[in-house]
Amino acid sequence: MPVKIPGGLPPSMVTAHPELTTVAESSRWKRTGRYDEISRLCPAFEKAFPGKVRSFNFGETPEGRAMIGLAVSQDGVFDAAHAHSEHRPVVFVQGGIHPGEIDGKDAGFWLLREMLEGRMLPGVLSKITVVFIPVFNIDGHERISIANRPNQIGPEEMGWRTTAQNINLNRDYTKADAPEMVAMLRLLANWDPILYIDLHVTDGAEFQHDVSILVDPSQNGPEPLKGMAHAFHMELMERLTAKSRLPLWFYPNFRENDDPASGVDVIQFSPRFSNGYWGVRNRLGMLVETHSWKDYATRVHCTVDVLAAAFEMSARDGVRWLSTVSALEDASRNLAGHVIPLTFGVTDKSIPYDFQGVEYVRVPSEVSGALKTVYDKTKPAVWRIPVFNDYRVDLAVKAPLGGYIVETAYAGGMKEKLKLHKIHYEALPRTLAATEVEVFRATQVRYAAESFEGRTMVKVEGDWAVEKRPLHAGSLFIPIAQANARLLMQLLEPKAEDSLMAWGLFNAIFEQKEMMEDYVAESVAMEMLENSEIKSAFEKKLREDTAFAESPRQRLDFFYRRHGSYDERRNLYPVYRIAKNPR
Ligand SMILES: [Zn+2]
Repeated sequence: MPVKIPGGLPPSMVTAHPELTTVAESSRWKRTGRYDEISRLCPAFEKAFPGKVRSFNFGETPEGRAMIGLAVSQDGVFDAAHAHSEHRPVVFVQGGIHPGEIDGKDAGFWLLREMLEGRMLPGVLSKITVVFIPVFNIDGHERISIANRPNQIGPEEMGWRTTAQNINLNRDYTKADAPEMVAMLRLLANWDPILYIDLHVTDGAEFQHDVSILVDPSQNGPEPLKGMAHAFHMELMERLTAKSRLPLWFYPNFRENDDPASGVDVIQFSPRFSNGYWGVRNRLGMLVETHSWKDYATRVHCTVDVLAAAFEMSARDGVRWLSTVSALEDASRNLAGHVIPLTFGVTDKSIPYDFQGVEYVRVPSEVSGALKTVYDKTKPAVWRIPVFNDYRVDLAVKAPLGGYIVETAYAGGMKEKLKLHKIHYEALPRTLAATEVEVFRATQVRYAAESFEGRTMVKVEGDWAVEKRPLHAGSLFIPIAQANARLLMQLLEPKAEDSLMAWGLFNAIFEQKEMMEDYVAESVAMEMLENSEIKSAFEKKLREDTAFAESPRQRLDFFYRRHGSYDERRNLYPVYRIAKNPR
């Protein structure tokens, strides 16, 4: 066995393939390679291990770089169709969604080479196929600087969090705005991995724990997937502990910023995130966050330990997992009429937890004027803190009996999104006269104060209500009876936190585009007041609503909204629910 360097992985002195050594490895985990290394290494792996590795491109970044990956298996099962026909569990390993957190790239290349050369995990690659994307956000990876990520130790230079279009890919899974995300969702749809591992490095505090791992779906998921995810998660914790790691089963997200004593909120990751998204797709989504205050050698080694344990368990359990999720997909086809929880929060219930921290004090800061936290990392300390791991359902919605209808004008764009998310639909071949549907008219629209990820997010109030509307040729019918029914609801229920509505893709419907001149409204109002019902409603409102009574704009608007010229489509969501396939 090769000699171990302190805290890190053995150097490559034993490899039969020195051309597969990374810059990280040869610099003893001080530095990391650039894009030219990835584009050289992937084909070099294929060349070094013929019949066991396939290098492939799956897209192009906005700055024109090819997106590259490796498919690896001992027995040549390295295309998606072959893997599916063999019922082969596919494990998908993603590095560099946040390129400053690049441990996954160097860990993946190192571990795969060791496995292919037979020094680690013998036999595992004949039971699983590994798809490895060394760097998802390649343009961000090339925006390299020694100044990036001041809260992290090494490598010497590292990449930038967002894409060249300033998109954070780990918020983009449902809206899929980034070209990189479009390429990734197509690749995921093709491979359909049973386990999707997304490799990061934490931000935040000083402590002893070296890695934090989440597996979705967690508390919010459907059985039996939830139980399967939990068992995998807990065994992974045990295996890492047995290797003298100090793993956390939650992300160390302090309830109050910068204050460890406030405890940790164990949030349920919504589908904008990789792990939350893959959980909603009825698969295992895993978030790995090594601790940023460990040196690069230690972090890469820790990532290798996590991957090795996950690979071994996938090789042992993957076939069983596949049959579990296939049964769940059958069940997902029968969600019609069931109440489905979509959005979650954390309650104030907690459990005490002995967090392996370091000594710290909270003292007044001359700089900020607030309290600041000063850590002494030389003095380990146990923090007995509350961990808030009890969740509540903030939004639950009854699934439609038949499915959703998307109006013709929105069908083109929606088709593209649905295909990416592996959701089936059909287009109506001819127009149907007034048909009973449920419609959603927003009664209150609150825009976020700032742009987020290039979008103006919006929170709407309102309820579905039955109405008759014509359904035009070319409208889409999206049946609820399909494997990805839960994801479909996350995307199309307007009040779900990561729905396309919430991300602002329908904001134009809230805008008033026609108007009535005030002097016209004045005379229209006089005419309308001759109607006794309108008159008493107006007077009641004047009596009961002071803001209304004091606002000339609102008072005129009262009449405009009741006039035939008012836009009946304003605030009408162009997606309906329907009780059966209208064909
Ligand atoms: Zn990250």
